[in-house]
Amino acid sequence: MKNIILLAPPAAGKGTLAKLLEQNFGYISLSTGDILRAKAKTDEELSNKLKTGMLIDDQTVFASLSTVLEQIDKPYILDGFPRTVKQAVMYDELLNNLNKDLGIVIYLNVNKETLLQRVTTRIVCPKCKRSYSTVNKELLPKKENICDDCNTELVVREDDKEEVFEKRFQEYLEKTLPLIDYYEQKGKLTKIDAISSNETFKQVSSLIK
Ligand SMILES: [Zn+2]
Repeated sequence: MKNIILLAPPAAGKGTLAKLLEQNFGYISLSTGDILRAKAKTDEELSNKLKTGMLIDDQTVFASLSTVLEQIDKPYILDGFPRTVKQAVMYDELLNNLNKDLGIVIYLNVNKETLLQRVTTRIVCPKCKRSYSTVNKELLPKKENICDDCNTELVVREDDKEEVFEKRFQEYLEKTLPLIDYYEQKGKLTKIDAISSNETFKQVSSLIK
């Protein structure tokens, strides 16, 4: 199984795809938040920084990531990382040092109108974070407004308001597009038109072996 970097605009279905990869192939999702929190358990200084919401510098992020990657024995998905081209370059160096392979970079391509429509019809499980739709048949919960996996009542996320989406989409254009170019130039990028989550999962499944 190849490691995966997931790049996508907000609401493109990253969470759903990651969940399917975890359940079907034993992937682990890694976000910088998770990585830093794991390190903070044995690092008091970092723990204090996280508690006060201080910005964590790249050096600390990479030191923590390095520790995690040295120990990991499963394929992993990086979600929301790297965030910048600078981090992507540092990540290449880290993999080089650890003698590990980058794997594949998957870009979930969805147009803005579709995303906005998805966002405004999305409901999520506050407990396990699985997301559902109130209109898309593939993503309807089995019981109305109840999570299939953990029986928790589903909610609308604060992030899923139209104004918030506009802001996140602008941020995505500024930050993620340069990363997409970076990986495309290296010949590492696979672009998938992420229209249906089942179809996306099928395509990704054939790429990771
Ligand atoms: Zn749930």
